[in-house]
Amino acid sequence: MNKRDYYEVLGVSKDADEKEIKSAFRKLAKKYHPDVSKEPDAAEKFKEAQEAYAVLSDEQKRKQYDQYGHAAFDQMNGGAGFDFSDFDFSDIFSELFGSSFGGGFSNFSGFGGGSRQTSRARRGSDRLMRVDLTFEEAAFGCKKEINVDFYDECDECNGKGGKGEKTCSTCHGNGTVTMQQNTLFGAFMTRTTCPDCKGKGKTYESTCSHCRGTGSVKKNKDLEVKIPAGVDTGNRLRLSGKGDSGTNGGENGDLYLEFRVKSHPLFERDGNDIYLELPITITDAVLGCKKEIPTLYGNVKLTIEGGANTGDKHRLKGKGIEDLHSGSKGNMYVIINVVIPSKIDKKQKKLFEDLSLTDLKTSEFKEIENYLKKNK
Ligand SMILES: [Zn+2]
Ligand SMILES: [Zn+2]
Repeated sequence: MNKRDYYEVLGVSKDADEKEIKSAFRKLAKKYHPDVSKEPDAAEKFKEAQEAYAVLSDEQKRKQYDQYGHAAFDQMNGGAGFDFSDFDFSDIFSELFGSSFGGGFSNFSGFGGGSRQTSRARRGSDRLMRVDLTFEEAAFGCKKEINVDFYDECDECNGKGGKGEKTCSTCHGNGTVTMQQNTLFGAFMTRTTCPDCKGKGKTYESTCSHCRGTGSVKKNKDLEVKIPAGVDTGNRLRLSGKGDSGTNGGENGDLYLEFRVKSHPLFERDGNDIYLELPITITDAVLGCKKEIPTLYGNVKLTIEGGANTGDKHRLKGKGIEDLHSGSKGNMYVIINVVIPSKIDKKQKKLFEDLSLTDLKTSEFKEIENYLKKNK
């Protein structure tokens, strides 16, 4: 479909100033606003004008448009043109139609509903579900049986919401009714959704008791899901078509699983890396030692050289978690924590006293000792 040039839509020249653009849009809004216009293609014309105005009234966007044309906004909205749904038209509309119209029209894109809307195929809603995983389930991947709630077409009434279908007598099947609305400009006839059939254009002799007239019922199903290795808290997995059922032949929504990974009693995870804090005694720290270390892939022996300190970091390459996308594994880091005992027995005390008579001072002690001397 060829989109019309925004300047052409508003009927202004390329070098039109802010004022000209605003006044051109006001004229069009007055002429084509679907609630006041009798023109057959008012809704499309109005939407086109809104889109053009939203772009050309914004200095930045106008510049982009001048440079790249419609292509400037192609990426934004799946190629449907500039998405103006966030644009605030309320000042212009309240100027034009009185404050009772307010900003409500910025949500205008839903207009044109009525009977057309209900017969149109509608995609089911997406659903989001949280799934708790243990540390290991997340690291290695797993199969999970999950029970999912979703909305499906009511079997009793085939999604219609009632039995004994009749054309709505209030709106004669149009789904909309015309009412008079008083504004600063005088009385306008406005079209709104029919209150009796809620826009369906049809009523029923009896409301379906199974779905209470909504046409859809909550169901649940068990799904077996394969969760890939490497997922972390906050990651989402999309299960296409497993959300709410579509209506009138529309496709189903998607189901998103969002993971929450439980903490591990020993391991701390940071991305694909795993951290383990390893407590060692003073003598192990001074003399060095060999320690058995738990990893996700079984126990391994770690050699700690004498002179170890709290905070020393040992890397176990490839003992981390498999990357969700690349499959390459992270590392595991063992962080040394030298634990000073708060209680020692008599024999140990004697040994420490003997030890204290020897000089254990290393170069680190010199700095403060020199400072103390100077300070005297
Ligand atoms: Zn009706
Ligand atoms: Zn039903």
